[in-house]
Amino acid sequence: MRAEIISIGSELLLGQVVNTNAAFLSRELAALGIEVFHQVTVGDNPDRLKEAIKDAEERVSLIVLSGGLGPTEDDITKQTLSDYLDVNLILHEETEAKIITYHKNSGFEMPGNNQLQALILAESIPLKNDTGLAVGMILDHDDHHYVLLPGPPNELQPMVKDHLKDELIKRILIDQVLVSRVLRFFGITEAQLAEKIESVIKEQTNPTVAIYATEGEIIVRVTAKAKTEEEGNKAIDKIESRITDPLSDYFFAYGEKRLNEVVRDLLLEKELTITAAESLTGGAFMSSITSDMPVGSVLEGGIVTYSSDKKNKVLKVTRETINKFGVVSPECAIEMAEKSRKMFDADIGVGLTGVAGPASLENQNPGTVWIGLSYKDKKAFAKQFHFGHKRNKNRRSAVLNAHDLVRRVLLDKPINNQVCFGENS
Ligand code: ATP
Repeated sequence: MRAEIISIGSELLLGQVVNTNAAFLSRELAALGIEVFHQVTVGDNPDRLKEAIKDAEERVSLIVLSGGLGPTEDDITKQTLSDYLDVNLILHEETEAKIITYHKNSGFEMPGNNQLQALILAESIPLKNDTGLAVGMILDHDDHHYVLLPGPPNELQPMVKDHLKDELIKRILIDQVLVSRVLRFFGITEAQLAEKIESVIKEQTNPTVAIYATEGEIIVRVTAKAKTEEEGNKAIDKIESRITDPLSDYFFAYGEKRLNEVVRDLLLEKELTITAAESLTGGAFMSSITSDMPVGSVLEGGIVTYSSDKKNKVLKVTRETINKFGVVSPECAIEMAEKSRKMFDADIGVGLTGVAGPASLENQNPGTVWIGLSYKDKKAFAKQFHFGHKRNKNRRSAVLNAHDLVRRVLLDKPINNQVCFGENS
């Protein structure tokens, strides 16, 4: 099945609101194996909306409209579609009762036009709005399915996940199931990843392969349509190695598992302890290790040394290193890793130092980061990264890359461009 997304709202065209709904919907539809070839945005104008619907009808059978279901005059979606298809709007009593109760409980007087949010297209199936008042709907009319969703993302997203998906599955999958598997990658860009599995992407029919990027991570979702879950999983098994084999250095987890959880689990499994000396990340690396569960056996302590003075006085990075090489240097990153490891008697020490920004430091641009790593009797090393100009993004990238370095060391994976000095300490 093919779909088209029509986002409605003049604020989208004026650039006042970023169209995150279209991105979210494309991802969710792709996960169902529904192809989206066009995304269209129109303002709050009935004629232009009708034109967009007409164009979409010629191209696809599923038309998803987001926005314009509210009670105000510029909310035109339902009325326009009702007019266009010549289908009446009728009252959805459950929603009306909900709107009345909401106003009673909140003590707000109910404006008359609020009831507009309880109108649905005759013969459509209502989609419950668990986080707002405007009801959504899906209408099967002639050869098309029309889906109407509210604009606010915090209303649209749960409606899609909890109500629309099941309705769509009923329409696209008769006597079939949909099985999905998520593969997570780090250390590669979306474009590089796509290039490495180009043949899989080109050949895809069933299972389908969707790639998307979250901050720092690339996610590949493989979705199969099949008669049974087992059959679907088998189809995914067949294609999985064609994706993970050429990307084995970057693949780190299935499903929802994040990089910090992978590292934490590896440390627990290998009964290793870790510590860190953090500068630009201010403790964020250690915080991400301890975030989801108590891990006292893995991390007993660590240190944040932001200033050069404290790097020297508390962590004991030598004055010579600081004066000769600076704090944004492989020498300093390695010493931070080694000194923290000794200080906290850990198996692994990580040193994070660099320029978070916005200002430069030691003539180095914002985003220049060195991460040092000292592991048992292996030679300590540091690796340089160049992120960008955004302070917090640089800090988050540093944390993620520190996790990736630890993961690579523990799994004996290659690490490019390492800098090492002298003999092992
Ligand atoms: P409401 O009852 O709030 O009026 P609605 O269904 O009529 O809901 P709109 O009026 O179109 O929705 O949009 C309400 C708000 O939702 C917008 O001001 C905007 O903040 C957000 N919004 C609308 N469309 C999108 C979109 N495509 N992506 C992200 N946010 C959106």
